Amino acid sequence: MNSAAPSAVPTRTRVDACPGALQMHPAADGGLARVRVPGGSLRAVQLEALAAAARELGNGLLELTSRGNVQLRGLPVGAEAELGDRLAAAGLLPSATHERIRNVLASGLSGRTAGGPVDVRPWAAALDAGLCADPSLADLPGRYLATLDDGRGDVAGLGGDVGLLALSPTSVALLLAGADSGLRTRPEDAVTLALAATRAFLAERDAQGTGAWRLAELTDGPARVTARLLDRRNGHVCDPGVVEVPAPPVNGPVGALPQLDGRTALAALVPLGVLSAAQAELLAGLAAEVEVTPWRTVVVPDLAEDAVDDAAVDLHRSGMVFDEASPWLQVSTCAGRPGCARSLADVRADATAAVIGGTLPAGGARQHWVGCERRCGRPQGHAVDVVATPTGYRIGNSRVED
Ligand code: SF4
Repeated sequence: MNSAAPSAVPTRTRVDACPGALQMHPAADGGLARVRVPGGSLRAVQLEALAAAARELGNGLLELTSRGNVQLRGLPVGAEAELGDRLAAAGLLPSATHERIRNVLASGLSGRTAGGPVDVRPWAAALDAGLCADPSLADLPGRYLATLDDGRGDVAGLGGDVGLLALSPTSVALLLAGADSGLRTRPEDAVTLALAATRAFLAERDAQGTGAWRLAELTDGPARVTARLLDRRNGHVCDPGVVEVPAPPVNGPVGALPQLDGRTALAALVPLGVLSAAQAELLAGLAAEVEVTPWRTVVVPDLAEDAVDDAAVDLHRSGMVFDEASPWLQVSTCAGRPGCARSLADVRADATAAVIGGTLPAGGARQHWVGCERRCGRPQGHAVDVVATPTGYRIGNSRVED
């Protein structure tokens, strides 16, 4: 099947097994549920609901994923029903049929801090609603990813199947498989075009008769999806000039970030992306809304000047990091032992010991520790792999997987 595809592109013979909230993955430490957070925005009550679910149903921890989603682990068999009820009540599960495909990354602090000409928060809500409203889109693979970049260049390069990149207050580029398609639209028509591109991805996948998980896995995927869009009117025009998609940052910003309205956003790194229920409850008590990012950070926006210091002290005391020079910013890991049966090591414990002991390998460069060659959760951009082997850790990027 798909013999014309480049050899580096995998041929999929099975449906993707990405976990969801209702489709748990049976990990070695119990059920693993992934809760999608389109656009990264969580209301305080939603964060409290996640914290309560982690504490009462799981192992008491929330994991921040490289796609800006949240995972619960250690769930007992059959916990899906109660977890689903809790998430639905909190507005975190608007569609049981579409829950796994709601992978939407949006520029951090869009509309709040300087950096992009468009506020993409309305796009995130509209795209999520549009995805859930179309029954045919329930067939999208769980690997599907949309990126909504307000022009600051933080998420456009994170490997989306479909992406929007604001070029100016009046022009938006459509990205396909992370590259410029040449199609342009107005901000008010951008979500319509992104949804059309998503449908065209599915239609092209059907036409090619493949089980592709990603648009890039289709033969000439971006060109053929673009051709399908040109057959229809979706408010777009063609631009002969191609824009270069910005490379994503390896880390998100940390510290106090001034907002356009005079208030302050506090961005904190969560070491290894593992947030305790108590930390989540602390965050929920600080603001009406919290952003989670693909860089293992959480952002508390809209803080008044006199609230910033106390919030920062409380978050720091809870274990979050505001120092840009901290070695914690250089390290991410997969789950490792005991959560993953394939793992050859407890990578989180080993990485933590290396940070605390000042013994990070590779000169302390940005690094991703993994328990086996699958290298799950590897960040986009440059990072050195630290791979567990039967005889210890091997440092180097001899093989990279999506
Ligand atoms: S990289 Fe290997 S050890 Fe780590 S979570 Fe993935 S499969 Fe498990």
